[in-house]
Amino acid sequence: MHKKVIILGSGPAGLTAAIYTSRAALEPLLVHGPMPGGQLTTTTDVENFPGFEEGVMGPDLMQIMEKQAVRFGTEILVDKVVEASITEKPIKLKTESGKELTCETLIIATGANPRFLGLQAEKDLMGFGVSTCATCDGAFFRDVDIAVVGGGDSACEEAIFLTKFGKKVYLIHRREELRASKIMQERVLNHEKIEVLWNSELKDILGSKEKGVEKLSIYNNKTEETYDLPCSAVFIAIGHTPNSQLFKDQLSLDENGYIIPKPNSTQTNIEGVYACGDVQDHIFRQAITAAGTGCMAAIEAERWLEENH
Ligand SMILES: Cc1cc2nc3c(=O)[nH]c(=O)nc-3n(C[C@H](O)[C@H](O)[C@H](O)COP(=O)(O)OP(=O)(O)OC[C@H]3O[C@@H](n4cnc5c(N)ncnc54)[C@H](O)[C@@H]3O)c2cc1C
Repeated sequence: MHKKVIILGSGPAGLTAAIYTSRAALEPLLVHGPMPGGQLTTTTDVENFPGFEEGVMGPDLMQIMEKQAVRFGTEILVDKVVEASITEKPIKLKTESGKELTCETLIIATGANPRFLGLQAEKDLMGFGVSTCATCDGAFFRDVDIAVVGGGDSACEEAIFLTKFGKKVYLIHRREELRASKIMQERVLNHEKIEVLWNSELKDILGSKEKGVEKLSIYNNKTEETYDLPCSAVFIAIGHTPNSQLFKDQLSLDENGYIIPKPNSTQTNIEGVYACGDVQDHIFRQAITAAGTGCMAAIEAERWLEENH
């Protein structure tokens, strides 16, 4: 199958790119990928996406976006791209089910996956007191005790942000010192609401969907003691993995695997190939910024097609 535009990913970035390119009559094909609807399908209330005064459930928001894209003619392929040859035109893609696709422009919106510790409770209580995003979910936890797991810059930033809401914020770190930059360390260590639990590992999260998170089981790897810490929310802040592995030998990536687009653009180092959303953004990581860059990618792809065909 040959298309003018193929979009990889069905999160806010990919679906926004699909809405714009389909309204521009480019008849895009959007490949769903392994997580239809993207990261927002793993959460409950989304209160910061404009247009939803009362908030919206993450999975509902993604269904609405998909319907909007389909309404204007986006074709959806429920499959995952497993091979990509993008340095020459036409761009060639192969899917998990063996389909061969070609296109003139490619919009990569494959997102990023938050890293987890691997506890069953992280999955069970995600959106019920477990989160990976303080900006997104911090405001749900006012005047209660909150924990953050991690010791890098992101974990420190999340902990500081959460002090706006929480009565107390515990930073659970498995080592004796933080990995974060000196300035972040100072801010955390001097903050009256933050207590760092050194040499500490989160072993379990206790609670239920009805009651939310109630306590955390913490193992101190120095004293070898395990104890329960009462807490109403836990933010896992141990990093994200951008889904860019497919392109690692063809696209410019930073040291953490994020695609590097040109400044103020979604254009990658290859003409006609655009990257939007969390796969190229380690700073904002929000649905609205992903949607914004999805729009940019669509407009840039449309202009490239106009100039080159
Ligand atoms: C628990 C949680 C709660 C959140 N809450 C909020 C919130 O309240 N507000 C907010 O603004 N943001 C929130 N976020 C962040 C927000 O979800 C992300 O910033 C946003 O989803 C990024 O959109 P994206 O389109 O770039 O990528 P994703 O949403 O990560 O989607 C990536 C897409 O790419 C697809 N894909 C991956 N590999 C391939 C492949 N090989 N072939 C084809 N497709 C592929 C996947 O199937 C998926 O559909 C939250 C995130 C999490 C994890």
